[in-house]
Amino acid sequence: MARYAYVNGRYVDHREARVHVEDRGYQLSDGVYEVVGVRDGKLIDEALHLDRLGRSLGELRITWPVSRPTLGFIIRELMRRNRLRDGLVYMQVTRGVARRDHAFPTRPVKPALVLTTKNGKRAEADPGPGVAVKSQPDIRWQRCDIKTVALLPNVLAKQAARENGAFEAWMVDKHGNVTEGASTNAWIVTKAGELVTRATDQAILAGITRHTLKALATDLQLKLVERPFSLTEAKAAKEAFITSATSFVTPVTKIDGQPVGDGKVGSTARRLREEYVRFAAAGEAIT
Ligand code: PMP
Repeated sequence: MARYAYVNGRYVDHREARVHVEDRGYQLSDGVYEVVGVRDGKLIDEALHLDRLGRSLGELRITWPVSRPTLGFIIRELMRRNRLRDGLVYMQVTRGVARRDHAFPTRPVKPALVLTTKNGKRAEADPGPGVAVKSQPDIRWQRCDIKTVALLPNVLAKQAARENGAFEAWMVDKHGNVTEGASTNAWIVTKAGELVTRATDQAILAGITRHTLKALATDLQLKLVERPFSLTEAKAAKEAFITSATSFVTPVTKIDGQPVGDGKVGSTARRLREEYVRFAAAGEAIT
C-alpha cells in the first residue's frame, strides 16, 4: 500500500486520506480522472494524459485545480514519496464541495484534486497466456469520450466478466458492434491480416495506449483500419487484444468461452506488446 496520497494541497498518510461528504464527485459523480502508467520510474505518455484530462475538464466546464506544470510537480513528488517504480498514478478532479444540488454551484467553488499511486508488477514484454473476455450489452451514456468517475455500467460489466471467469468485459452496442472494454480499448486482427479498432467518437474513450499503439503499428507497416467490428467478426478473428495504461497490450485468447483463432497468443499481439514495452521503457513521447 502506498504511504502517501495527495488531497487538496497536502500529502497525507494514505490511510487517513479523506474528502468531504459534500464533494460533488462523491455525491454526483461530477468529476473526471486519469490513470498514467509508470514503468521503471518513468511516466508513460504523461503529456497525452494531461491533454486528455484538460479535455475532460473542459467538456464538464470544471477548471484546472492547479496549473498543469504544478500538477506535473505533484505527480513527481507523490511518486518520489511513495518510491513508485512500476505501477500507476491515479488523479481525480471533481467540481468541488458545495451544498447538494444537481446544477452547478452558483458561488465559485475550488475544484478538488486527489492523487494516489499504486504499485504493480513490472510489465514484461512477454504477454503471458492471454486473457478471456465476456461480452456485455453497452448500457453507458452517450459521452463515453469523457473520462468521468461515473463508472457504474463499467463496474457491472467487469463484475459480470469476473463472475464468468473472464478478465475483461467487451461492451456491445445495439448494432452488435464491440465498442470497447470496461476499462480498455478493443482490437482484432482479421484473417486477412488487418489490424482493426473502432474509430474514436463519443461512444468510446480515446485511449492513450490506443493512440501510441497506432503509431507503433504504422512504424511496423501493419495495415491498420479504424472501423467498427461486430462481436461475430471478433469471434471469427485471427487474434484479439486489449490496450490500456495498466494492461499495456494484452492478448485475448477467448471470447464468450470460444477460442480466438487457434486459442493461443497471436504473433501480432505479441509483437505489438514488445514494441509498446520498449516504448514505455524508453520513456519517449509520441504525439
Ligand atoms: N476505455 C475505457 C472505458 C477506459 O476506462 C480505459 C482506461 N482508462 C481505456 C479505454 C484505455 O485508455 P488508456 O489507454 O488511456 O488507459
